[in-house]
Amino acid sequence: MTTLPARIRRERRTIRAMTRINCRDHHDGAGRLCEDCETLLDYAHRRLGVCPFGAGKPACNHCEVHCYSRKMREQVKAVMRYAGPRMLLRHPILGLGHLLDKLRPAPRLAGK
Ligand SMILES: [Zn+2]
Repeated sequence: MTTLPARIRRERRTIRAMTRINCRDHHDGAGRLCEDCETLLDYAHRRLGVCPFGAGKPACNHCEVHCYSRKMREQVKAVMRYAGPRMLLRHPILGLGHLLDKLRPAPRLAGK
């Protein structure tokens, strides 16, 4: 397995934490992710693994590359809408980092 940039590794922790919050509050997660959330998280992690921006990755909602399928994008948006504000309480460091990412302008892919 290749070593992912720290930026991407943090992003993976963030989406995992958000998925957990959403699953616990909305599904019968009972301490672990339900099957749907597991699928979504796995998908998100795989997309992050191939993100062309790597260390310079913008917040996904500002990104010009829409790498998610439509269905997955809707799902992950719902998770973030719910869990985003709650991150600051439960995971202050990750939550703050995510907020700061959203304030930075999104880079453009070279050659576009
Ligand atoms: Zn769930």
